[in-house]
Amino acid sequence: MKTILVVFGTRPEAIKLFPVINALREADGIRPVVCVSAQHRGLLDQVLAIAGIVPDFDLDIMTPGQTLDALTASLLVELGKVMDDVKPDRVLVQGDTATVMCGALAAYYRKIPVDHVEAGLRSGNIYQPWPEEVNRKVVGSFAVLHFAPTETAANALKAENVDPAAIHVTGNTVIDALHWVTDRIEREPELADALDDLKTRFSGKRIIGVTSHRRENFGGGLEAIAEAIRRLAARDDVALIFPVHPNPNVRAVMEEALSGLENVAMIPPLDYPNFAHLLSLADIMLTDSGGVQEEAPALGKPVLVMRDTTERPEGVAAGTARLVGTDADTIVAEVEHLLDDSDAYEAMARAHNPFGDGNAAERIARLIAAA
Ligand code: UDP
Repeated sequence: MKTILVVFGTRPEAIKLFPVINALREADGIRPVVCVSAQHRGLLDQVLAIAGIVPDFDLDIMTPGQTLDALTASLLVELGKVMDDVKPDRVLVQGDTATVMCGALAAYYRKIPVDHVEAGLRSGNIYQPWPEEVNRKVVGSFAVLHFAPTETAANALKAENVDPAAIHVTGNTVIDALHWVTDRIEREPELADALDDLKTRFSGKRIIGVTSHRRENFGGGLEAIAEAIRRLAARDDVALIFPVHPNPNVRAVMEEALSGLENVAMIPPLDYPNFAHLLSLADIMLTDSGGVQEEAPALGKPVLVMRDTTERPEGVAAGTARLVGTDADTIVAEVEHLLDDSDAYEAMARAHNPFGDGNAAERIARLIAAA
């Protein structure tokens, strides 16, 4: 029996790892042990609940206003203690958060092999996404198995001299998760009824789904995004549904700028089934999120990305995503272009999925079992 310690801490990691944990449970000769740092408490718990995952270790590391230094220091120490206790054969991490980097480092300090899901994404700019670009590169510099979601990601690793034999193009497990949750909603529609009242309130309007939480947009970027939303909401044919990230930096700016606007619904973060439902309802997604850039193209939803660079260029190359930065005039102009030019809209709305076929988790479990 090989013990695989799966380490994660945030909502996107949980979404992208629950299919892998399920596949590892099915694989012969593997015992997955789940350790969450709870770097994001509430958002993580929403995903654990719907996915039916009860962690074996829960470090509950989040404290309000925590600096990156303090977070990194405590993650490294606490994750190391779990590794000394479990003595896993391998450690599995996903993505680019502080939890991922510290989980990988703690394993490396103990000479435990680290495998990395969603390896090889690079924007080429260490400050966008910040600090995630560097977190991901650190793990990529010593991981043993690199599970690249796409050829582009695999090529980025090869360009950094990672042994090609260690790189496996698997697809992104976010597509596995999206298929899983869509099937679940079909069987149990009551899991995704949180938006029913808003559907009635905004009936007949074009729906724009909004998410924004990037650290590099805190301050001026978020204010510009709020200004763009205000201006778009002045149109009577448009409604914006905005699940607001609980980070106080985001919430304070958005509440100040957008409270009381008739065509804007600022709502608490949606759990995963309800967010998947928002993706299916929306005509356009306006976002700075990484995961939404992968999910929206899979559903044929044009996605306007409020960043200057992306480590997920595949959506842009496929024509379903466009980088619009964080200038209010540009955001408004790009959204209105899609609202008012049906050819431009249709060109972006063709369902296209450059991120995988929904079988990534099974491939990853098989490769780990064979390692
Ligand atoms: N998501 C969610 N509820 C929300 C907003 C997003 O479940 O209210 C999901 C979304 O489907 C995606 C993931 O969270 O899979 C993206 O997470 P986030 O934007 O926090 O992080 P990023 O992907 O930028 O790392």
